[in-house]
Amino acid sequence: MYANLQLFIDGQWLNGDGRAGEDVINPATEKPLAHLPHASAADLDRALEAAKKGFAVWRATSAYDRAKIIRKAADLMRERYDAISKVLVQEEGKPYPEARAEVLTSSDIIEWYAEEGRRAYGRIVPGRGKGLRQIVVQEPVGIVASFTPWNFPVLTPARKIGGALAAGCALILKASEETPGACVEMVRCFADAALPAGVLNLVFGVPATISEHLIAKDAVRKISFTGSIPVGKHLAALAAKGMKRATMELGGHAPVVVFADADPEKSADTIAAYKYRNAGQVCISPTRFYVQEPVYGRFLARFAEYAKSLKLGDGLQRGVAMGPLANARRIDAMETFVNDAKDRGGKIVTGGQRRGNQGYFYEPTVITDVPDDCKVMTQEPFGPLAPVVTFKTFDEVVERANSLPYGLAAYAFTGSGHTANLIGDALQSGMVGINSIAVSTPETPFGGVKESGYGSEGGIEGLHAYLNTKFISQA
Ligand code: NAD
Repeated sequence: MYANLQLFIDGQWLNGDGRAGEDVINPATEKPLAHLPHASAADLDRALEAAKKGFAVWRATSAYDRAKIIRKAADLMRERYDAISKVLVQEEGKPYPEARAEVLTSSDIIEWYAEEGRRAYGRIVPGRGKGLRQIVVQEPVGIVASFTPWNFPVLTPARKIGGALAAGCALILKASEETPGACVEMVRCFADAALPAGVLNLVFGVPATISEHLIAKDAVRKISFTGSIPVGKHLAALAAKGMKRATMELGGHAPVVVFADADPEKSADTIAAYKYRNAGQVCISPTRFYVQEPVYGRFLARFAEYAKSLKLGDGLQRGVAMGPLANARRIDAMETFVNDAKDRGGKIVTGGQRRGNQGYFYEPTVITDVPDDCKVMTQEPFGPLAPVVTFKTFDEVVERANSLPYGLAAYAFTGSGHTANLIGDALQSGMVGINSIAVSTPETPFGGVKESGYGSEGGIEGLHAYLNTKFISQA
């Protein structure tokens, strides 16, 4: 039922064949699922040569024809969504309905880019002299090296593959070694859609070894990374050495501001379901809850009631609302956050501990009475923890919400249009959801500010991330 784990280089599927590798673990059982081959240095160089060849073919293919192939891959993903979703559940842990939504959204993203690639228009700027044509054209940046994490093993690669291929670039993707199977199956859809050899290559290995090897090569002109801030800073520095363009989608610590004029129960229902999606291992997950004093009690009661009601279990079982954390590191991290919160006077309303002895299950947790400078309020929790505190005034909550170096997503709930306008402007964040959690769609820009990174994926901005602008002055 799991995937056949292979590398994909120059249009060929490669097995272990004496290569180093590692086991992929099911986080619900802690048992191995399969063995993943690692790319050797020779494999990486072969992928680079293939990408050079692939890029020459792909950039010479019209955007119209490129779109047909990319769309075909999206169609194949839709046909195979059930099998891909089951692979995703086994390796990452999220419940099947979430995995299915991820796979189907990813096919939407790919299809959207296929269409948008046909509209990578240039423009003519009126010249100052008679007969002068000032032409602005968009060209693919070239070969892209992308690095994606374990929490959305299909969606994060889909954004990078869709944008790069629609723009006419070739791509070497290093997906997550901890959750490789669903990405392998997505790449198989591109192979089966007859994408020319070398345009898309998939490798795995020791992340630092692969990124250093690829980013140092002159032929690689663009880096795209999704992951943690420390790794993002390291890769951005490597990219800067070669003056390469980079998109950095890094961590966040999203504030949720609930004003007294919002409906507290409705706000709690909306945001609580979103909080525990993928057990909180989402970069735009709501992670710090500031509730205005008059509605604090009602919001907290409803939110905690929802958290308590969640059924934990293996994501392939029916009715399971939250799966295990994706790896043992997250369990250790949750214990550190919760112990620190308790030491600092925090009260556990529900959860606060590991569940069972097998699988990386951690209870949906709600914490109150924590100071703003404790760990869970200042560091990205990346897990099922919801610290809920009070605030008094608009200015105070804006200052507290903007006080961290993160700036990826932020949320606010209010019944006032005026307050909605003011809070939307005031929050330092790449994306703001007001009475809404829909901050990530294929057609809208997704990206952070401050240490959460730079550049956008999604929307027309996500296509421009893979295009260079060239100006031609023609007399
Ligand atoms: P980590 O910092 O070790 O790794 C984060 C990701 O970067 C992983 O996918 C890893 O394979 C990759 N990576 C690590 N070193 C790399 C390198 N030198 N070159 C290329 N890729 C490299 O942390 P982790 O334990 O895997 O995850 C924990 C933290 O990472 C979380 O707390 C969260 O802050 C962050 N994270 C963010 C996202 C996101 O969507 N922005 C996704 C996953 C993890």
